[in-house]
Amino acid sequence: MIFLDAAATTPVRREVLEAMWPYLTGEFGNPSSHHTLGEAAAAALADARKTTAAVLGCRPGEVTFTSGGTEADNLAVKGVALARQAVDPTRNRVVISAVEHPAVEESARYLERFHGFQVDVVDVDPQGVVTPQALKPLLQPDTALVSIMYANNEVGTVQPIRELAAVAADHGIPFHTDAVQAAGSLPLNVRDLGVDALGISGHKLGAPKGCGVLFVRSRLRIEPVIHGGGQERGRRSGTENVAGAVGVATALQLAAGAQASPALAERRDAFIAAVLAGVPDAFLTGHPDSRLPGLASFCFPGTSGESLLLELERAGVVCSSGSACAAGSDAPSPVLTAMGVSPEVAQTAVRFSFDSSVTADELSTAARSVVAAVGRVRGLGSAHR
Ligand code: PLP
Repeated sequence: MIFLDAAATTPVRREVLEAMWPYLTGEFGNPSSHHTLGEAAAAALADARKTTAAVLGCRPGEVTFTSGGTEADNLAVKGVALARQAVDPTRNRVVISAVEHPAVEESARYLERFHGFQVDVVDVDPQGVVTPQALKPLLQPDTALVSIMYANNEVGTVQPIRELAAVAADHGIPFHTDAVQAAGSLPLNVRDLGVDALGISGHKLGAPKGCGVLFVRSRLRIEPVIHGGGQERGRRSGTENVAGAVGVATALQLAAGAQASPALAERRDAFIAAVLAGVPDAFLTGHPDSRLPGLASFCFPGTSGESLLLELERAGVVCSSGSACAAGSDAPSPVLTAMGVSPEVAQTAVRFSFDSSVTADELSTAARSVVAAVGRVRGLGSAHR
């Protein structure tokens, strides 16, 4: 099997599992307990926070461990907007981009439905980019938060986060970025990026599912989404997932050492070239250069994305027709339609995503399988006509 669906999830790395193991077994204490076992767990949590803060270039107190990317996005979007509205009731607008993950988009819609917010959506260009020029006019005196993802999960476009965050800062508006897909391949120093909040999910970079991180700049007020015993400095109640926190911190540290992967981008580009040479009427979606090094996404007009997936899986290539969350849905991808792709062509999308463990041979085999699968699906289509 050639696994080309790393944007959906990744296996747990051995080093990560080994770092977590003690906290799943002998050192199983609750970090809130005042005995030796509890203290050992609290120390591990503090250590994981320090490691994460070092990767993000922030203070340990600015790191909140969450149950993953979805919770990090919910906490950032709802938490910052509601805290701002509580201080100044006229602050009742949030800005998101047209290509956000549902974890951000639905959090914003929740604010609209239940808390009187207006959601302003900034458009993307045909390559999926939010430009500072497009963002500026949406920033109003009553805007409470801007949330724009670092890299897109369906097409891999990397946003000009520094520039966008700077525009928000000029207006005194907090800026959140969903860095779930960026973590592991792009720089994450929050001070360099100029962001006020940034979210990460463990399972996209070799930690288990169900653990994540939200960075929130100190002094930025945030209303908790989960209420209870006041763990995580009151930002996120619930007994901490100590092993998960250790896992995500270890995965971040390992990924930070391996960042900047020109070799991976070269393999991706060779794969893109081979697919486009074999299927000349296919087209790459997303930005040709400003894209994740491990993501290539295409539309194959005249086919169906779901049929291609089946053909590819038969040939031993595992990939996805869009985001894992939307898999199985008949609706065309809102990300692609926001980029100007027609709903009909958007149904022909296939995403290939991989980390640096993928070899050039695997990618060239996969490219040949793609060309053959497109031929077969088109053949089947014409046989039915
Ligand atoms: N944000 C983006 C961009 C994602 O790709 C995902 C996962 O697919 C999430 C958020 C949600 O993360 P999690 O699966 O950890 O809840």
